Formats: sequence, C-alpha cells, structure tokens
Amino acid sequence: MTAVEQGASLAKLTTIGVGGPARALARPRSVAELREALGFARAEGLGVLTVGLGSNLLAGDAGVDALVLRLEGELAAVEVVETGLIAGGAATNAVCLHRARDAGLGGLEFACAIPGTAGGGVVMNAGAYGRDWSDVLVRALVVTADGEKWVTPDDLGLAYRHSALGEGDVVARVECRLGRRPPADIRATVAELIAQRKATQPTNKRTFGSVFKNPAGETGAGRMLELCGLKGHRVGGAMISPKHANFIENADGATSADCVALMVEARRRAREEFGVVLEREVVFVGLPELPPLE
Ligand SMILES: Cc1cc2nc3c(=O)[nH]c(=O)nc-3n(C[C@H](O)[C@H](O)[C@H](O)COP(=O)(O)OP(=O)(O)OC[C@H]3O[C@@H](n4cnc5c(N)ncnc54)[C@H](O)[C@@H]3O)c2cc1C
Repeated sequence: MTAVEQGASLAKLTTIGVGGPARALARPRSVAELREALGFARAEGLGVLTVGLGSNLLAGDAGVDALVLRLEGELAAVEVVETGLIAGGAATNAVCLHRARDAGLGGLEFACAIPGTAGGGVVMNAGAYGRDWSDVLVRALVVTADGEKWVTPDDLGLAYRHSALGEGDVVARVECRLGRRPPADIRATVAELIAQRKATQPTNKRTFGSVFKNPAGETGAGRMLELCGLKGHRVGGAMISPKHANFIENADGATSADCVALMVEARRRAREEFGVVLEREVVFVGLPELPPLE
C-alpha cells in the first residue's frame, strides 16, 4: 500500500496557496496503488479528493476531512502514439503539449496557458480560445473503489466547464486524438496565445483561474465585475485582480475566508448591477456553498 501522510497542507497543493490540512494524503504511482488507496478510503469511511495541480481549487481554512490523492509515477507519464497521446491523469498540460509538439502532433495548443493536468482538464472540461478537452478526448480510464473502466466523452457528459464525474471517480489515464502539424507552427501558435494571455490576465500571481463561469450573453464575468468597479477590491490578503476582474489574487497571506468574502461581494454586485447570478467555476473543497442571493 502506498504510504499515507497525515496533515499535508492544501495551501501547498493549490496554486492560490490557501487552505488548511488534509486529513490524509496518498501518492499512488500505478492503477494498482490507486485501487489500494481508494479501498483504504472506503474502509476508513473517508471521502476522496483527487488534486491535480490544484489550479482550480479553493480549500477551506479548516482543511479537508478526506483522503487527498496526488497521482504520480506512471499515472503522470505521457506516451506518444500514432494518433495522439496517452497521458496519465496527473500529466501536466505543459508536458503533454511539449511531447505532442515534438512528435508533430497538433490540437492541444488551446491548453498552453491552462496550468493543470490531463485528469483535471477532463474533469473540468477545461478550455480556452474556443476549444476544450472534449475536442481531443477519445476516452478516459476512470478508477473507483469498485473497479476501473474506460469511458467516452459522451459517458462523461462533458459540457462548458463540466463533467458528470463525482467524488471518488479518479481519471487515471486520458487518451486523446491529435492531428499532424509541424512543430514550428505549433510553437508559433503557442507563443501567440501565451502573449495574449500575458496581456490580459494575471499570469504571474497566485490565483485559481476564473472565479466564475461566463454567464449567457455577451458580457463575460470579468467585464461585468470590472464595470462594477471591483478591480483591485481587497478583503484581507485577497484581491480582485487589477488586471482581470474574474481572478482573485493571493496578494498577501490570503485566507480561504478572504477569497470567499470577495466572491460573495462580487456576486452581490453583479446581481445588483446586471441582474445576473454568477455561478462559481472554482471547485470548493472543505467549504460550504456560497450563500444564496437575497
Ligand atoms: C492562471 C490560471 C489560468 C487558468 N486558465 C484556464 C483556462 O483558460 N481555461 C480553463 O478551463 N481553466 C483555466 N484555469 C483553471 C484550471 O487550470 C483548470 O480547470 C485545470 O484544468 C485544472 O486542472 P488541475 O489538474 O489543476 O485540477 P485541480 O484544480 O487540482 O482540480 C480541479 C477538479 O478536478 C478534480 N481532479 C483533478 N485531477 C483529477 C483526476 N486525475 N481524477 C479525478 N478528478 C480530478 C479535482 O478533484 C477538482 O474537482 C486556470 C487556472 C489558473 C491558475
């Protein structure tokens, strides 16, 4: 059985850098070790939280009463095949993209500025520039305490920043279909997309990516919150990014409570000014749902 650590800090496992301790942490390196860890959680009556790069997670200050899983070893490996990639659930987008580019395989460029993993990408159906994981995914190996099975995008119900996967469903492997593209063209597209990102979003700050999903209609969540005058608004150590109002930065020792307070205020203002109820994109762990708007 893979070793179980006690009290690992979620602040160290998330890009925003806030959050209390995990009840337990395991780092399975193979599907067999993953099955063991899931069996252990079930036997102990513990919930399971799989953490990729923690780039879309806000964890409560009191921590998370669950077995946190960080996939490693062969569950983070990337294999290039004729038609695309087979990536471990914990393979980072950056590594997937580089391996694909070197093999002359294009299609993952959209993920160049998404600091997550293949597994987190599928669970969130992460995307940018009009494409997302559902465009490249052929199938994913989902492991639970009961067994393992390959599932298709249809089975996963992928939609805008949504999949039907639940707690205890672990994406151990991802198979994606890519097309032939010269590495120089891939490099050029990536350079252009990264430059766009740097111009519009806080890429060198501690954040968890977009706070809210974009509501239906023309005005995105960021623009709405900017029009509400919230850029630079602070609660404690957390601040609405002065560069893009749909990001919260850990400006100076932020707590999870600071981030939640900003989200509550942002939703209140968006409702007041635009009549829109913003829905969070960031995944909450060890936190209650945001209070309903009056
Ligand atoms: C600067 C910045 C920019 C970003 N830009 C974008 C963007 O353009 N588009 C976009 O869609 N997102 C964006 N994000 C958000 C985030 O990077 C994506 O949602 C990413 O796909 C999350 O991957 P992760 O591995 O970090 O997942 P985590 O944040 O670790 O987890 C997210 C969810 O996925 C689950 N999960 C993670 N791995 C697995 C697994 N192997 N099996 C089962 N469940 C798993 C977690 O339990 C959690 O529910 C951005 C974030 C940052 C910080």
